[in-house]
Amino acid sequence: MTANECSPKQNQETKVAIVGGGVAGLTLAIFLQRSGVACVLLERRNRAHVEARQRAGFIEADAVAMYERWGVADKLPEGPVARGFEIRINGSGRVFERPGEEGSQGRFCTQQQLVTNLLRELIDEMRGDVRFEVTDIAIQNDEDGRPRVSYCDASGPRELVCDYIAGCDGGHSVSRSSIPHGVLTKYNYEFGYAWLAALVEAPVTGLSVMGVSDHGFAAQIPRGPSRSRIYLQCAVSDGLEDWPEERIWDEMRLRLCDDTIQNAVILDKDVIPLRSVVYTPVQYRNLFLAGDAAHLVPPTGAKGMNLALRDVDVLAKALVSAARDGDRNALENYSDTVLPHIWKEQEFSASMTDTFHDAGDPSQRGTFRQGIARARLDAFFAS
Ligand SMILES: Cc1cc2nc3c(=O)[nH]c(=O)nc-3n(C[C@H](O)[C@H](O)[C@H](O)COP(=O)(O)OP(=O)(O)OC[C@H]3O[C@@H](n4cnc5c(N)ncnc54)[C@H](O)[C@@H]3O)c2cc1C
Repeated sequence: MTANECSPKQNQETKVAIVGGGVAGLTLAIFLQRSGVACVLLERRNRAHVEARQRAGFIEADAVAMYERWGVADKLPEGPVARGFEIRINGSGRVFERPGEEGSQGRFCTQQQLVTNLLRELIDEMRGDVRFEVTDIAIQNDEDGRPRVSYCDASGPRELVCDYIAGCDGGHSVSRSSIPHGVLTKYNYEFGYAWLAALVEAPVTGLSVMGVSDHGFAAQIPRGPSRSRIYLQCAVSDGLEDWPEERIWDEMRLRLCDDTIQNAVILDKDVIPLRSVVYTPVQYRNLFLAGDAAHLVPPTGAKGMNLALRDVDVLAKALVSAARDGDRNALENYSDTVLPHIWKEQEFSASMTDTFHDAGDPSQRGTFRQGIARARLDAFFAS
């Protein structure tokens, strides 16, 4: 059918409309579909773009256990078990090794490997309804009547009538923006510095390294067998032009006090201001937010993807109870259920961020905070 032949609105029905096909939306779609709850996932990008997007690289033990409970752990990419990391303070390294755990273990695997596997499972194995390259999403979520999600695809305007909407559309969520002004409270904290984040063709041979230095924070974290992500603290006002390749490697050598670090190919780079955001409540009528649509954490604690998956676990169970069993209790309490955990992980991420940055360059918060932060690191190793 061509755009001209397409009727202005083609209505279709489903139980749950999911907006956004990142790690949260895809995982939710798989859990719902496995539980017999019909859903349609709307994603604004094409499949190749979603599969190639580089981001997180660490799945926590709790997230692995969640996939096991929902029966899809075999879809997780393989990756080295996360055994610990090294904290290097002005060149002097101390290793923090996690004690051997019973049961599920966290592992390093890239977010795009996970997303690729989830897409394969949802589309190629389960024949799930995923619609890529949709535009102009608009949400109608009135008190009366069923929610509606209108959008456009290549063949023209469309509309989905549903019972519930899951807003899994990331930090710039249109789902969240559809909630009337005054309903949500936004808690926002800017740390005052940024990270230059680069994906590089250089493996991490030992443990991940977090470098605390008088010149600022630096880190190198595994992202698969031949790649790693490097992070360098920088000014929020910095642009990519301030970070040519040579400067990146010079700063890595300087901050990690390691002259043996070789320049390697940089595959992509970005400047990320460090901030924490929580929206509350994370639901409005029949719309439920999950993942980065509901909160943002600074990347220091590697919590963003894992927190998104925690939301999805709670939301999927609540939607299954409501849609399949007619019990709306868990859905009505969704926000109250997830918010304590969201704040707990915000506290962890903010405290990690403060500690690693305050302990390093004193120009930001002074030598007193530097002393406090180093004492906190000592206590961490002693505990
Ligand atoms: C450089 C970097 C490093 C990170 N490292 C880590 C880490 O080590 N560990 C960790 O746990 N987390 C990390 N994170 C955070 C993690 O990547 C996010 O928290 C995670 O991606 C959140 O998943 P999500 O599905 O909620 O959102 P997203 O992954 O952002 O997915 C949202 C999806 O919605 C789609 N979308 C957006 N708008 C629309 C629209 N209008 N209509 C339809 N679709 C739409 C997007 O295209 C996207 O596919 C990192 C993030 C960055 C940027």
